[in-house]
Amino acid sequence: MFSSLRARLWLSYAWLIITALGITALILIVYLIRSPLASRQTLTQLNTVATVILENPQANLAKLPAEELQPLLTAYDQNFGVRLLVVEITRTGRSILADSRADSTAALEIGDLRIAGNNQSVKDLNGIPWLATAKRLGESRWLVVTAPRPKLTVLALIRDELFLPFFEAGAIAFLLSLIAAYSLARWVGSPLQRMLNTARSFPSGEQKRLPLEGPREVKDLTRAFNEMTSRVQASQDSQREFVANVSHELKTPLTSIQGFAQAILDGTADTDQSRKQAATIIYNEAGRMHRMVLDLLDLARLDAGTVEFQRAAVDINALLHNILEKFTPQAQKANILLSQEGEISQPILGDGDRLAQVFTNLVDNALKFTPPRGQVRLLASQVEDKAEVTVNDTGIGIPSEALPAIFNRFYQADTSRKGGEKHGAGLGLAIAREIIQAHGGTISVRSEPARGSSFTVRLPILTPETTTIVAKRKR
Ligand code: ADP
Repeated sequence: MFSSLRARLWLSYAWLIITALGITALILIVYLIRSPLASRQTLTQLNTVATVILENPQANLAKLPAEELQPLLTAYDQNFGVRLLVVEITRTGRSILADSRADSTAALEIGDLRIAGNNQSVKDLNGIPWLATAKRLGESRWLVVTAPRPKLTVLALIRDELFLPFFEAGAIAFLLSLIAAYSLARWVGSPLQRMLNTARSFPSGEQKRLPLEGPREVKDLTRAFNEMTSRVQASQDSQREFVANVSHELKTPLTSIQGFAQAILDGTADTDQSRKQAATIIYNEAGRMHRMVLDLLDLARLDAGTVEFQRAAVDINALLHNILEKFTPQAQKANILLSQEGEISQPILGDGDRLAQVFTNLVDNALKFTPPRGQVRLLASQVEDKAEVTVNDTGIGIPSEALPAIFNRFYQADTSRKGGEKHGAGLGLAIAREIIQAHGGTISVRSEPARGSSFTVRLPILTPETTTIVAKRKR
């Protein structure tokens, strides 16, 4: 029942209000009980009575004998409702000459009385405190006007003085706290509620970015939520696109395999030559599918991070030389000049086989997309702490609008010129980029249609520190 933010907020406010009011009331009660405030009214009354009596010319209290003083004081007592005493103070001692309540109340301890003391407190013989004021009447006589010190009980104080204002203050504070709790809960709760609704409906329909509202922490959360939803959305989109691409790429060879197998089966391919032709096509298409599946598996393993990369010193010059030797027959057959230029003196740290796979793909592409009498060059150089290898060709080039997507999976710049029979599925460059990135390097492309393309790979060179790391890992 009280688990909502609003109720919790309101409860904490209510608790705070009750505590604050309680502490204030307690302090007030203690202060009122202890403070002379309550006695002040009585003392004023005592002083007024004393002044009135002293200023009355008929009452010659200074001279009257004790037996005449008594009835006079009793009369004053009846009139003013205060106890009056006439005290004689001489060097030898103090004595009460007359006391308006001598017969009904215990005598005052006049020994404690301060002479000419206006506001003072004396006790009677029973220990009850009296407020008193003493005024000089004559040579040795003093008029003492006194009344019992007023008693304040806690309950009476709360009932008469504190209950109503505290009740009113409490009611107003509760009302205000209700409004504050409601608006605060709305401030915090509304963006959270929106996030909840979006999360529940995810990923149906177009995901809109949630507005950044509420306190800073909630704004940070909303920002993180927005980023997360767009990442999930992007990953879902790419997954969908991936599945569509795979199905599309598999459909073409499968249709072709099915068609030619059917021709062999139903006898449409009725000569040895046409049967051989059909079988060759089936073989080539199956090979293409096999290559594609291997590439897909490779990509999936690279994505999942389950590919174990060797970490050893790799001599890039030797690696490029091997590639050159491997592709020379193919280049000669295609009448393309294949050459290697430049040197990288220091080794790099990485997996030689995987790097060979990258350069094999780049040179294979360059040869595929370069017409006869063209040129493919492997240029190696060292730029600061990077080894730079460029595979440059004088081929057909890549349209500028295709360049940004060239490393995307399944991307083929122009499907009408896939590079002849050995055309791939647009996965080679995507794999190459994954491998280079896993080596802490970069791969980029520059190209001009009809003039050629340049793919440049940059890899960090092996420094003395990294050599130590390799040595340690090898052990
Ligand atoms: P594929 O296996 O289809 O060649 P890649 O990922 O290696 O896949 O290449 C993707 C696309 O990039 C190719 O289909 C081609 O359109 C384009 N491409 C790659 N290298 C070159 C190049 N040297 N010259 C022209 N186009 C190229």
